[in-house]
Amino acid sequence: MHDPHTPALAIHGGAGTIPKSALDDKTLAAHHAGLRAALTAGWCLLAAGAPALDAVTAAVMALEDDPLFNAARGAVFTADGRLEMDAAIMDGKARRAGAVAGICGPKNPILAARAVMENSPAVLLAGTGAEAFARSQNLVFMPETYFQTERRRASLSLELNRRLAGAPDTRTDADRHGTVGAVARDAAGNLAAATSTGGMTAKLPGRIGDTPIFGAGTYADNATCAVSCTGTGEVFVRFTAASEIAARLRHAGQSLAQAAPAVIAELLTHGGDGGLIAIAADGPPVLTFNSTGMYRGYVTSDGILHTAIHREDFTTQIS
Ligand code: ASP
Repeated sequence: MHDPHTPALAIHGGAGTIPKSALDDKTLAAHHAGLRAALTAGWCLLAAGAPALDAVTAAVMALEDDPLFNAARGAVFTADGRLEMDAAIMDGKARRAGAVAGICGPKNPILAARAVMENSPAVLLAGTGAEAFARSQNLVFMPETYFQTERRRASLSLELNRRLAGAPDTRTDADRHGTVGAVARDAAGNLAAATSTGGMTAKLPGRIGDTPIFGAGTYADNATCAVSCTGTGEVFVRFTAASEIAARLRHAGQSLAQAAPAVIAELLTHGGDGGLIAIAADGPPVLTFNSTGMYRGYVTSDGILHTAIHREDFTTQIS
């Protein structure tokens, strides 16, 4: 049973999953380990009574540091071979929010987003202005090479060659995109959401996805729910996916378990491939997707970590 003040945490490592058939045992184990490390980072804080905001920050930082996931280290490349990252965080208690878009430099873009929320009058800073602000906050910066991986470079070449050849797009989800995110409810009943991404492989320079757009890829409001999305960002923006779920809770009397899968199913009919994680004032987190998979996990008050990648049952481990 979950009362309103039962802490809970869910995370995702994006809808850009490697197909089951191409996932060898070692790579499979590494992804589960990465998800568990992020759950543990967030859960240690929540279980000790820390705010949901700190738990989602810690969980997303762990995923940003892991090159397997498309955020910070391991982010995908733009069409011109650069890295442009988006991140956002929202506090459901006061509906404070902060985001950065199109940045490269801060080791953890989610910390830059949090600094925007806590130490600036803005909710969203982009590009060089966002980077300058992050420097003023004394955040750790890394050279561009720190974020680059061979695997993402190969995905970029694949897509650029495909475009040159005018061939149909038969790429796997893993070659297309990815994101990381976390939602949490703390012992005081406060909700928070955080999301961080490199975006879509070979995206137009300057393109900004749903992640830093509040109400689209990231949202939190204690009165309804906290949501973090992953998938084809443009569709999530056009349908304001996260706030659509909150609206159904607030105005249509739906539960989170009804609203979240319904919105994800609707997005698919408009070409929106992906999923989301969400948590409400009570009840367990909801993790739902219309893609072939979504790296995901959750932990509830029993302290057991649950992780999954495709449509299989969750693998469990005691925290
Ligand atoms: N939603 C992200 C974006 O459009 C990509 C993803 O989650 O896979 O930037």
